[in-house]
Amino acid sequence: SFGDTDAQREVRENDRQYVFHSWSAQGAINPLPIAKGEGVRFWDYDGTEYLDFSSQLVNLNLGHQHPGLVQAIQDQAGRLATIQPAMANDVRGELAKRIVEHSFAGARSVFFTNGGADANEYAVRMARVHTGRQKVLARYRSYHGSTSTAITLTGEPRRWANGTLDSGVVHFHGPYPYRSVFYSETPEQETERALAHLRSTIELEGPSTIAAIILESVTGTNGILIPTPGYLAGVRALCDEFGILLIADEVMAGFGRTGHWFAFQAFDVTPDLVTFAKGVNSGYVPLGGVVISEAVHQTFDQKPFPGGLTYSGHPLGAAAGVATFDIFAEEGILERVRDLGERVVGPRLREIAERHPSVGEVRGTGLFWAIELVKNAETREPLIPFNASGDAAAPFNAVVAACKQAGLWPFAAGNRLQVAPPLIISEEDLVRGLDIIDEALNVADGYVGA
Ligand code: PLP
Repeated sequence: SFGDTDAQREVRENDRQYVFHSWSAQGAINPLPIAKGEGVRFWDYDGTEYLDFSSQLVNLNLGHQHPGLVQAIQDQAGRLATIQPAMANDVRGELAKRIVEHSFAGARSVFFTNGGADANEYAVRMARVHTGRQKVLARYRSYHGSTSTAITLTGEPRRWANGTLDSGVVHFHGPYPYRSVFYSETPEQETERALAHLRSTIELEGPSTIAAIILESVTGTNGILIPTPGYLAGVRALCDEFGILLIADEVMAGFGRTGHWFAFQAFDVTPDLVTFAKGVNSGYVPLGGVVISEAVHQTFDQKPFPGGLTYSGHPLGAAAGVATFDIFAEEGILERVRDLGERVVGPRLREIAERHPSVGEVRGTGLFWAIELVKNAETREPLIPFNASGDAAAPFNAVVAACKQAGLWPFAAGNRLQVAPPLIISEEDLVRGLDIIDEALNVADGYVGA
């Protein structure tokens, strides 16, 4: 409990002594011991309160300790805590049915995984067996997970130190109007040129060698990049022309983040495979999966699928997933996310962008926004260089520190603050968090022109 310095010391000591952390030099980190989480807030042992504008790792869509989720897990634990995947299970089947019904026309079944990386891993495996082809095209500025194929699909620095673990992966550029590699002047031009670039990539790699194109419907950690008009439909058309499957990675954007069950539903596109995790049950129990089209499902109707997991469709995770659907309906989550995004976040961030010279661009949808910080709004030079660390990252780290000092836990990535609070956040808390960001941006303004 708060103020218990012995408990705090023990948590810290055990962590530093025995826990090996993700993505970190173990000797260079000092993880914050957390005593409690409730709704959109969490507290350290000193009682310091943080408003979570990052939903942990953009997974805590229904906030901490949602009574409906906790109850569903407790009930399921009392009924049947686990059962292996070759058996049929009520909550597993119920969740698969609801996901199929809420995903896309022509969706047939769900293969459950433990999280997002393995969902992408299995989606690619299905696409390869289905098409008999090996290559997969993935975008730069993407994150698809950290297992062998998923990290190779990833189009950003987290891949670098891993080498090439899947030799079938080829990267291409997607639309990013603010930093267009196509020298576009309008979103329409960006669409046209990004699609021409993709077509040429397909032609040069050999259409008959490409099993799938994978993309985040709305790019998450790499900048909340929303597809330009007609882009996703254009990718779909190229897939159809060349017999390539389209995999939508909805691990971060899915389950309400953009105000839709899945982010692609706001666009004119139907994928063949959809990967999900995080928001499916807010991460209360590890769970992910692949939504599979009828055609791909048919490939494995008589031929065995060569893959599996001990915990595929774990009942505790599935029960929390079923409860997620119920809670979304009861609390009108999708409607409130769209409303808060359009009425509160968008207008406020645009107003913030006008007042702060350090804000180059704001963009987003629902409760999924990016504030891109620059040293110079005209040249668009980022506040810190790409992939900066140490002293080079100091200006950005100072902004993040100012947020935390004021009680806000932001999502920070590259030169961007991203806004991704739990979807249950009250309007009052949302405004309070945006106020804190507004104030912290004064720190960034101090570096403009420096
Ligand atoms: N795909 C996307 C778009 C993600 O944002 C993430 C995680 O952040 C993943 C895949 C990997 O998910 P996991 O960490 O559950 O393996």
